[in-house]
Amino acid sequence: SNIFFRPIEKINAVIESYPKGIAGFKRYVEIIDTEPDIADAKDAVAVDSLRGDIRFENVTFGYEPDRSILNGIHLSIRAGETVAFVGPSGAGKTTICSLLPRFYDVTGGRITIDGLDIRDMTLQSLRRNIGIVQQDVFLFSGTIRENIAYGDLKATEEQIWEAARRASLEEMIRQLPDGMDTVIGERGVKLSGGQKQRLAIARMFLKNPPILILDEATSALDTETEAAIQQSLAELSVGRTTLVIAHRLATIKNADRIIVIDESGIAEQGRHSELVASGGIYSRLHQAQYLHA
Ligand code: ATP
Repeated sequence: SNIFFRPIEKINAVIESYPKGIAGFKRYVEIIDTEPDIADAKDAVAVDSLRGDIRFENVTFGYEPDRSILNGIHLSIRAGETVAFVGPSGAGKTTICSLLPRFYDVTGGRITIDGLDIRDMTLQSLRRNIGIVQQDVFLFSGTIRENIAYGDLKATEEQIWEAARRASLEEMIRQLPDGMDTVIGERGVKLSGGQKQRLAIARMFLKNPPILILDEATSALDTETEAAIQQSLAELSVGRTTLVIAHRLATIKNADRIIVIDESGIAEQGRHSELVASGGIYSRLHQAQYLHA
């Protein structure tokens, strides 16, 4: 499922750094400002750029008090490591990843980044350190430039083009009559699914977070687009701690570690070849072609 295709108030992670002045966005900001449950602790610290060492220590969580989803998760992810979460639908892969930017708070245990409990960081500084790329890209009505620059509002024109280039968007933008000034969205040019994802990737190159969450597309793009996007995402994840909610075999095979989640929690972990050889859940998912090529 999708991290952001959830209660509207949870959308705040995307816009935490959004200038409240830009038209069309204000109302979301207002919704966020009223969000009651997740807030800064009294003496929360504004962290600078984190390294990205992540630890889940005996983490328990449930959306409802009487139904727990995670029952004591222990997990260490090294700075710079790429881990792929796989497992049956509903097992909790998305839930684990949505605890990191604090869309929800753990009900037991704690999550630390670089040794610091994430609840002791200001929400804004925590979320500045985490980038999310997902299937349903969040775009607003405005120009392509504005939509890319949303990743870093202080970006120069040169940096915006550089981000577009790294996301393989440059050529497409140059072919548009208004280039970077092309208006997209309801009143403007409609982007394809692949173009939207590239735009989200361009944004992330600008935002440059040490931690990345990739909520991988379940619906297939055409093979060529898929390969180009995989390539851009691979480049994006270099040097960042990357958590992938993975559906694509190509991503999974290349991950430093695969973490198999089922109803009981972390069922197994290791590299693709190790898990296939061990004959466990992963090898059965793999055989059943649950994991798409
Ligand atoms: P998928 O592969 O389908 O994306 P997943 O492994 O990511 O699944 P989650 O989306 O984390 O699984 O869901 C774990 C459990 O939590 C499921 O039983 C789901 O119904 C439940 N759940 C998810 N989001 C919410 C929510 N906002 N409120 C209540 N329950 C939820």
